[in-house]
Amino acid sequence: MLFASMDTIQRTQASQKVTIIGAVVDFLLAIFKIIIGILGNSGALIADGIHSFSDLLSDGVVLYAAKHSAEEADDEHPYGHERFETVATLGLAIILAIIGTGIIFDAFNRLQNPGELSHSTLLLSVAALSIFSKEALYWYTLKVAKTYKSDMLKANAWHHRSDALSSIVVFIGILGSLNGYLYLDGVAAIVVGLMVIYIAWELGLSATKELVDTSIDADQVEKLRHSIGQISGVNSVHSLRTRKIGHMISCDVHVQVDPYLSVSEGHIISVSVERVAKECLEDLMDVTVHIDPER
Ligand SMILES: [Zn+2]
Ligand SMILES: [Zn+2]
Repeated sequence: MLFASMDTIQRTQASQKVTIIGAVVDFLLAIFKIIIGILGNSGALIADGIHSFSDLLSDGVVLYAAKHSAEEADDEHPYGHERFETVATLGLAIILAIIGTGIIFDAFNRLQNPGELSHSTLLLSVAALSIFSKEALYWYTLKVAKTYKSDMLKANAWHHRSDALSSIVVFIGILGSLNGYLYLDGVAAIVVGLMVIYIAWELGLSATKELVDTSIDADQVEKLRHSIGQISGVNSVHSLRTRKIGHMISCDVHVQVDPYLSVSEGHIISVSVERVAKECLEDLMDVTVHIDPER
């Protein structure tokens, strides 16, 4: 139990550190992109800057959720606080969807009468800076996510990469606009808006799936059922249910045993079921076993 808590603390600290570094980079990029975007009249760069600001908001939500989801269970939340992370992710998805829609509306307005860009070198260098720093953040965040098996950090890493992609689109839009295709800047801004909406959709979908208690993958369930069935004393397995709680898995299961076993023998079997199940699935934290006498 003590080791589990130490793991949790380490995991929380690592996830906070990588998120804070991401937030500082997003903050600087947001400022640069919006100021230079306004200076050079690039709707695409401004949209990318707003995107970076919304990322900053995401980072704040991630930090808040990581802090609360790591707290131990208490009387008010006897199943722990993991789902604070899930609810925060869902809220974030809704905010991102609104921001993405706003960016697209603004881009359509700009497309009505596209203007000339100025400060071309500045515009292109800020877009390039954004591409490189976001790609670097992708690799760094993915490494930490893999170490601590955090789906949320992994999603964050992929988000950094999609930010790099977003800035590539912006770079191309600005370049095209500077070469006479004025509308390309607005088109790039629309692409940025669509990407923000797509991220919102992905985040919202996975959080909702977890909140409605969707089972883990069928092959994982089958693997679990098989290994519980192998335990000596277990004659058959039924009513195996699984669900995700934050980055953990929770399960309950019925096992049929010889009806004339003593209570303590039955208890030993249920302890084995718990141990085997946790060995079978690494993220499994909570197992409830129901012992049935054979029919
Ligand atoms: Zn982003
Ligand atoms: Zn039963």
